[in-house]
Amino acid sequence: MNENIPSQNFPNQNMSINPMNQNMPEHPSRKRNLVILASSLIGVAVLVIILALVFTGAFNTSNQEDAQKEDNNQSILNQEDRESFPLGTGKYSFSGPIFSGPMKGAPYFCQSLKKVFQTKIGAHVAGPWIDEKNGVWYPELRAVVDGENYWPDAYAKFTVVGNIRKVEINNLPVGDPTGNFPVAKNDDAYNYDRNPNYVEAKSIVWEIPRYPEIAKAASCVPLQTVGYALNGIPLFSAADGQGRDPAYEVSDACQGHPGPIHVYHYHIVAGNECIEIGESQSPEKETKLIGYILDGFGIYSQYENGKELFTSDLDECHGHISKVLFDGVEKEMYHYHVTRDYPYTISCFKGTQIDSAVNSKARGMLNMPPIGL
Ligand SMILES: [Zn+2]
Ligand SMILES: [Zn+2]
Repeated sequence: MNENIPSQNFPNQNMSINPMNQNMPEHPSRKRNLVILASSLIGVAVLVIILALVFTGAFNTSNQEDAQKEDNNQSILNQEDRESFPLGTGKYSFSGPIFSGPMKGAPYFCQSLKKVFQTKIGAHVAGPWIDEKNGVWYPELRAVVDGENYWPDAYAKFTVVGNIRKVEINNLPVGDPTGNFPVAKNDDAYNYDRNPNYVEAKSIVWEIPRYPEIAKAASCVPLQTVGYALNGIPLFSAADGQGRDPAYEVSDACQGHPGPIHVYHYHIVAGNECIEIGESQSPEKETKLIGYILDGFGIYSQYENGKELFTSDLDECHGHISKVLFDGVEKEMYHYHVTRDYPYTISCFKGTQIDSAVNSKARGMLNMPPIGL
């Protein structure tokens, strides 16, 4: 609201008196001086009135509307005791001809979503957990895909060799279940999202830096894999099949679902009971390692020092520097966090990635663009 205050006019107004006085002829008429003085005083008076109006909120209708909206949301929450989060649809930046760069709270995608999403895949209607009018969604109301299938053949190996941390997975969750995919006709989730894809084993090897370093500039994220959870499932960036907030799409009890090439993945990790394996440093509300991002930095649970973190607590890439347990050692270093609010995982790569033959093979298999595109 301060932007509305024309306070900058004050010095201008005052300045207009002095230069004019200096430019006066040697014998100025007293009458002319009085006119200038009077008009200056009127100008100042008008500004004082405008300032008073701004401070009393007379020009502040948009903020009043926002407050009203917040009150309405609050009453929904109080009445039904449900938590909501802002919808992130449309909130992103991308690397393109009009360079916009990384932005806090918005994924920095390698492409413009408008160009990528021409088709209508994913959720065909907004479910009752999406409130587009108020721009929020309700996690508790989101349809959960039925089924609890465990995968005894699943494997996820994270081994260190020299400067490399080798990730070997087969895209099936270790110790965690998946729902029944394709979504069955008799599943209530089918009313909103008829995900026709199935969960398929895919052997993927990926090399990430064992000793991650912050890059000179943050880099863009693809629309797919940004890292791997410790249970072997890829962590995706925050876009659904139509480039919207992934909250639109239905997922199973572990918040996972398969994509068009049958890659089972998570967009949202915080707030579920899955991915139990990991390193912890406190008994309650643990800062738990959930997985590794492709630049080598760890991604941790939504808690730190017993407090839940949200996107507003983190930087433009969804991370920060603080003390964490990494490879068995507690140290001050950069790391990411998952959050229950958009964009849920990471929004840009803070560190450098490895451009190896192994990775380009995996990128080919996963239909992912090369680094930096
Ligand atoms: Zn997805
Ligand atoms: Zn942290």
